[in-house]
Amino acid sequence: MEVFYHSTRSSDAKVTASQAILKGLSEDGGLFVPDNIPVLDKTLKELAAMDYKQVVYEVMKLYLTDFTEAELKNCIDHAYDEKFDTDVIAPLVEAQDAYYLELFHGATIAFKDMALSILPHLMTTAARKNRIKNEIVILTATSGDTGKAALAGFAGVEGTRIIVFYPKNGVSPIQEKQMVTQKGDNTFVVGIHGNFDDAQTGVKKIFSDKALAEEMDRKGYQFSSANSINIGRLVPQICYYVYAYAKLCAEGKITEGEKINVVVPTGNFGNILAAYYAKNMGLPIAKLICASNENKVLFDFFSTGVYDRNREFVLTSSPSMDILISSNLERLIYRIAGNDAARNKAFMAALSGEGRYEITGEMRSELADFYGNYASEEETAAIIRKIYEDCGYVIDTHTAVASAVYEKYKADTKDTTRTVIASTASPFKFTRSVMNAIDEKYDTMGDFELVDELSRIANVKVPNAIEEIRTAPVVHDTQCDKDEMQAVVRAFLKMD
Ligand SMILES: *Cc1c(COP(=O)(O)O)cnc(C)c1O
Repeated sequence: MEVFYHSTRSSDAKVTASQAILKGLSEDGGLFVPDNIPVLDKTLKELAAMDYKQVVYEVMKLYLTDFTEAELKNCIDHAYDEKFDTDVIAPLVEAQDAYYLELFHGATIAFKDMALSILPHLMTTAARKNRIKNEIVILTATSGDTGKAALAGFAGVEGTRIIVFYPKNGVSPIQEKQMVTQKGDNTFVVGIHGNFDDAQTGVKKIFSDKALAEEMDRKGYQFSSANSINIGRLVPQICYYVYAYAKLCAEGKITEGEKINVVVPTGNFGNILAAYYAKNMGLPIAKLICASNENKVLFDFFSTGVYDRNREFVLTSSPSMDILISSNLERLIYRIAGNDAARNKAFMAALSGEGRYEITGEMRSELADFYGNYASEEETAAIIRKIYEDCGYVIDTHTAVASAVYEKYKADTKDTTRTVIASTASPFKFTRSVMNAIDEKYDTMGDFELVDELSRIANVKVPNAIEEIRTAPVVHDTQCDKDEMQAVVRAFLKMD
């Protein structure tokens, strides 16, 4: 059955999957959603016998219905290859009383690689299908990990250019070094004087500037997005939840049909939304546990029904979750508003106007599948130390937020359902915070000394992504104010 997509802010215009991927964001500022969430057409038993790439195909074919089987399989083969340091792509590791789904074995050692290693292939295939002549300019705001993963994915890809905006003082030293050392003539990296929300808002503004879009078209360019608002990011993220469930079945850890909980460390609400879609496709998921850091706007939303971004922005040790405007929540709001675009649009207008909105009691009752909580900086550090001391397993700061919230969930509910924790980054990406959590004595060591020490105590080889940047020269040093973003884009594209 063919699936079409429409905006969360108006349901009249329908586009195909490939068109939704090319556009990224709808012209009215809304996010593309499928007219219906498809249902898995393979049994859990069949899925349990598949490898990662096969599962990806079974999920993606249901959403990207205007791609041929050959096109999809070609994209999948080019994405999940030796760029990953393990054949299984997404290993499940049992530690304490949970299964850690390690989503960080790709080129840039964060979970963003799971989708961004395939997005460039989906995008160039979509451009071919739709006979696009323009060069595609990927415009991306990053809280630290999307930027590098998107750069790695699009660097050198013919017919594309990529521009990444990151908060100059809001990412880890290793995240910044990874981005500013990116090679490739078609790449451009800019540090903005502002936070992630400023970067994301600036990018959305550039996207919705119609005059600019027309001028771009005359010069042979068009924008697209590699942010998690792109349906080409969301769909590949659904796949690993299905895969994790299938693997637990295959290994006899759960019986077929047994429900599991999923804990996701959340920022822009993309990763957990993918789990919600997986559940709606028929995957037996009980609770979706949404874990926030001290920027706990989502915890407050789940506890009160009020989304309120009017608060202080906190810089934490889990910078990729330092976000107050969780863009992908819009897809959930749309759904619990009864798939009503006009109602959703009113909430989003209130968010951009007053910075807050309140959902109705009826809508709140649709959120029963979700549990939200948050972890303080101290709780995050404490759980890293505890898991290391108890079982020698070292988790990164983002994953630790999820682990800490899972502890709170168990204390609150006494629920013993088997649980998968999305492990979103390698500890090597946030070495300093991780090592300081384990022992204060590490405070005086240099960044790369710490990397070697982490490798020693965790008994894990230093990932290639880190080896590469030890000596790599900085090639991007542009900075700008948040109101100069459009000017910077024009300059890079030589439009003036
Ligand atoms: C992006 C990111 C997150 C948050 O994911 P969302 O999809 O934005 O909710 C969590 N952890 C890490 C390491 C990330 O890079």
